[in-house]
Amino acid sequence: MIPLARPTIGREELRNIEKVFKTHWLGMGSFVYDFEKKVEAYIGVKHAIAVNTGTTAIHLALASINIGPGDEVVVPSLTFVATIQPIINLGAKPVFCEVEPDTLKIDMDDAAKRITKRTKAIIPVHYGGMACDMDEVLSIGRARGIAVVEDAAHAFGSSYKERKIGSFGDLTCFSFDPIKNLTCGEGGAVTTNDARTAEILRRKRLLGISKDTWTRYKHKRSWFYEVSIEGYRYHMSNINAAIGLAQFKKFENFIRKKKKMVRQYDDFFKDMEGIELLTRDYEATAPFNYTIKIKKHRDKFIHYMEKRGIAVGVQYIPNHLQPFFKKYRQSLPVTEKVWKEIVSLPLHYDMKAEEVQTVQRSVEEFLKKDEK
Ligand SMILES: *Cc1c(COP(=O)(O)O)cnc(C)c1O
Repeated sequence: MIPLARPTIGREELRNIEKVFKTHWLGMGSFVYDFEKKVEAYIGVKHAIAVNTGTTAIHLALASINIGPGDEVVVPSLTFVATIQPIINLGAKPVFCEVEPDTLKIDMDDAAKRITKRTKAIIPVHYGGMACDMDEVLSIGRARGIAVVEDAAHAFGSSYKERKIGSFGDLTCFSFDPIKNLTCGEGGAVTTNDARTAEILRRKRLLGISKDTWTRYKHKRSWFYEVSIEGYRYHMSNINAAIGLAQFKKFENFIRKKKKMVRQYDDFFKDMEGIELLTRDYEATAPFNYTIKIKKHRDKFIHYMEKRGIAVGVQYIPNHLQPFFKKYRQSLPVTEKVWKEIVSLPLHYDMKAEEVQTVQRSVEEFLKKDEK
C-alpha cells in the first residue's frame, strides 16, 4: 500500500528522545524552550508558544482573545473539524463561509458578507500550505475590529509575499501532528509578535499558572505558584519537543522534495481530460498535501485507487454537512460542489520515484476507462 501521508522519522529523533530520558525530565522543560526558540528563529517571530496539538493551539489562541458565548467566528466549512470544535468548546458560534474553488482558500468576499456585530474572529485556513490573501484578511479584520486567527496547520514553512506564515499576523496556529510538514509526534504552536498576548497564551497553556515548574525549579522559592487566569493543560512535553528538534535538521529537504513531487504530479496531469488541478504557488508554498479535482465519479476513483494499493483521502468533508454542526448549517453552493470532486493523492518525503509514477499511471488509467 502506498500511504497518503507518512512521517519521516529515524535515528536522529530516537537519539534526541534518549537525551530527554537521560535528564529524567519528561514534561515541559529545556527541550520545549529550545524547540520554541527554533520555531521563533525559523519563522522570524517574537513569540512561539508550544502546545500539545494543533487543535489546542487553535483553542488557546481563541481563548486568549476571550472568544465565548454570544460571539461568532467566521470560518470556511471546508477544513478539518479541528478548526471548528475549539469554537464550539468556547461556547461561540461558527459561521461557515465559502472557499475559492480553484485554490480552496477562504473566499474573502463571501466571508465579509457573513460578518455581523457579533463577529469576533475570522479563521483563514492556509489549505494545503498555500497562503490565503493575508493583506485582504488582515485589512478586513482591522477595519471591522475583528481578530484574525490563522489556521496554519498545513503551512509550516510557507510564505506570503516573502514573509513566513506566522511572522506577521495577529495569532497563527501550527500543528506538528504525525502527518504535518514537521512533526513532534503530536504537537502544535501559537505564534504572535505581541508580548502581552504571548504571556496570556503561556499562562493559559499551563492551567493559568504564571510560572511553569521548570522555571520554578531553577530558582529559589521553587514551591511557589500563582493561578491568575483560567487555563488548560495544553503544554508540549520534552519528548515531543525532542522529536521536533530533530526534524528541523531535515526540514528543508522535506520541503524541497515535496515541492518537486507536486510539480511532477501537476506536469503529468495538466492536459488530461476529467481532472482539474488547483492553482498553486509553487515557490511560496511548503506543500502539505496534493489535492486534485476529479470532475466525475470521484467516489469510484477512490475505490479504483484503493484497489490498486494507493491510499487517497478527501480533505475535507465540509463541516456544515456534519450532523453535529447541523444547527449552524446554511447553503454553501461552491463548497458543496467542490467537495464532491476533491481527492488527495499520496505525498510524502519517503515516496520513491516509482511510487509517484504508479500513482500517476493509475490516475491516467482511470480517466481513460470508458466504463467507470
Ligand atoms: C491537522 C489540522 C489541525 C489540527 O492539528 P492537530 O495537531 O492534529 O490537532 C487543524 N486544522 C487543520 C486544517 C489541520 O489539518
